[in-house]
Amino acid sequence: MSLTNRILLAMVAGIALGSLFNLLLHTSGVPQGFRVGVEDYLIGGLFDVVGRIFVASLKLVVVPLVFVSLICGSCSLGDSSRMGPIAVKTMGFYLVTTAIAVSVALFFSVLIGPGNKVQLAVEASYQATSPPPLADVLVDIFPSNPVRAMAEGKMLQIIVFALLLGYAISHAGEPGRRIASFFRDLEVVVMKIVEVLMALAPYGVFALLARLFSTMGIGAIMDLAAYFFTVLSVLVFHALVVYTAMLKTLTGLSPRILIDKMRPVWAFAFSTASSGATLPVTLRTVERRLGVHNSVAGFTVPLGATINMDGTAIMQGVATVFISQVYGIELSMTAYITVILTATLASIGTAAVPGVGLITLALVLEQAGLPVEGIALIIGVDRLLDMVRTAVNVTGDATVSLVVASSEKQLDEQVYLDPRADQNGAREEQTPAGA
Ligand code: ASP
Repeated sequence: MSLTNRILLAMVAGIALGSLFNLLLHTSGVPQGFRVGVEDYLIGGLFDVVGRIFVASLKLVVVPLVFVSLICGSCSLGDSSRMGPIAVKTMGFYLVTTAIAVSVALFFSVLIGPGNKVQLAVEASYQATSPPPLADVLVDIFPSNPVRAMAEGKMLQIIVFALLLGYAISHAGEPGRRIASFFRDLEVVVMKIVEVLMALAPYGVFALLARLFSTMGIGAIMDLAAYFFTVLSVLVFHALVVYTAMLKTLTGLSPRILIDKMRPVWAFAFSTASSGATLPVTLRTVERRLGVHNSVAGFTVPLGATINMDGTAIMQGVATVFISQVYGIELSMTAYITVILTATLASIGTAAVPGVGLITLALVLEQAGLPVEGIALIIGVDRLLDMVRTAVNVTGDATVSLVVASSEKQLDEQVYLDPRADQNGAREEQTPAGA
């Protein structure tokens, strides 16, 4: 069985077993011994340990991988002065796709009205944390200590340092060439680690999902069905309509292949709910299965995982309209525009880990003049939506990488079209696409 199918099977099995346990544990008359065995030894024991080790191992490889790939990427671009245009295009696409995502979310939620029939049953309370000043946010992108940036996993700082180093390497003559070849070798080695993790993914994905679904309160979804399904529909629409239309019109590539090759990445995103933890797999897939040259992917994918969160912006758009409807507060046209702007910015500021989209939602609500306590209304169903929106977030990163690579002639279409390219997380000693 191919790795993709094994991961997808593990995903379905984890969800099924977790839901079954959930059902049994909420049924009266279940023997105490069974309850203890399942709750303490399986869910709180085995699944918890395996899941946490799996996520830790994914995170482990993020910093070395981003650092090395970005250096290799900027080394090969250093001479050609394409770095600037690629950066501008990438940022442009990330911002525009996010703004489209919020706009579509606002449009659908005004149309559907998920909060119109909801009664405020409980007194909601939510303590929002105040955001740091903009000047600090900007200054914080530039590292003063590269080792600290890496130790703390500050992705934007790592990106800045790697770009600078890559540029310097490509302009340093013979010594630069020697260092560049060292980093190219190192990249192959780090990718090997990703390959090992992908081979272990079925177990990790299974454990994470079995644990999550056995403890998740599915009942909350019924209470918030209108909100939940509105967010879900817009997420699916954005992934299957907006991205595919964008890919088809801007590159002429078949979106079906993208969807097919992204499935294992979705399984990672869904089970970890973190674009950051999924980053190693996204990068490997974009380079080796979709054929984006490392010089583009090494920049676009880590940057995207950090700042491009269309799925998160969609949740925030729907949540804003939902909360305004529940509280009976009419939103003006200016408020809608403010929401589009702030949700786009908030998605940049959202860290690529589970649940942060809900925290930055406070920013959007505040700007729109809505009560931040409204967040308490939707917390109950956020984890499941987080899993789906993370899958959308990483799809956005892959799509923009393809578009930018295609416009820069840094896309190997043969790899994109080859269904077997890196199919099992490995194509022996292959060089990155187009290299
Ligand atoms: N979990 C999301 C991600 O990592 C961020 C969020 O929306 O909370 O992409």
